[in-house]
Amino acid sequence: MKLKDTKQLLNDLNLAPNKNLGQNFLINEEIAENITSLVKNQDYVIEIGPGLGALTKKLAQNNKKVLAIEIDRGFAEYLKKEAEKVNNITILHSDFLKYPLNKIKENINIVSNLPYNITTPIIEKVLLESNKLDKFVFMTQKDFIDRLLSKPGSKEYGPISVLISSLGNLEIFKVINKENFYPQPKISSCVSVFVCKKTVSQNDRKTFYEFVKLLFKERRKTILNNLSAITKDKKEAERKLNMVKILPSRRPETLNIDEIQLLFDIMLNKTRKK
Ligand code: SAM
Repeated sequence: MKLKDTKQLLNDLNLAPNKNLGQNFLINEEIAENITSLVKNQDYVIEIGPGLGALTKKLAQNNKKVLAIEIDRGFAEYLKKEAEKVNNITILHSDFLKYPLNKIKENINIVSNLPYNITTPIIEKVLLESNKLDKFVFMTQKDFIDRLLSKPGSKEYGPISVLISSLGNLEIFKVINKENFYPQPKISSCVSVFVCKKTVSQNDRKTFYEFVKLLFKERRKTILNNLSAITKDKKEAERKLNMVKILPSRRPETLNIDEIQLLFDIMLNKTRKK
């Protein structure tokens, strides 16, 4: 939908964009085509925050079944009526953060132009809770993606970048200028594609993430300091670091994903099977 049509529709529905819900609607059909072309011929697609449906109908044309979860009652009501015209879209008026993703038995692809104010909790939920995730196509503000893609040694590198690279592969698909949204956000956005490679159990993923968060808790301190806070015993922390040949004086953000995984396995008293 173009800008003029979007404004007209909002007017007809007597609705206005709500900043608190991160409502910036995509107003470029071609970009909507580009994004939705990344997910085709799938049995089950979930869309988070369909808004006025810029992506929803296109996703339904290309896939068997679409579940779209929208927190805003006004938009959910409008989309429910629209969905009656086709037979493969279900609109759920709900908070995605409360949706029981782990109950889904089919393989899922998730697509979203994410509400920017809850980007991190949504990404964490998708990565930690969905055992059946194949692909996650998402749009975020551009600066946020740098954090997700950051590498060891950089200021941005932290638990969420570690979680992403431990589970799969993330790539930038396209940068989208801010002029393509209504209302216009302050900065441009970026569409990224995450492909899940590992079927790590939900519990293991959560424990791993908790461990990584603790490891990065005091970024200015050494890895020995941070690990001692976890083991509650400095000698024990030194022994573990020695076992995996990590210098105790290093800072957490210098550890690469293999080193973190190794340390995690040692903490769980697991030895890695090669
Ligand atoms: N998909 C539409 C588009 O591309 O034009 C709208 C995207 S807009 C950036 C984000 C959407 O997410 C809004 O419709 C907003 O109401 C919805 N939203 C915000 N928080 C949500 C939540 N916790 N659960 C589900 N939807 C949410």
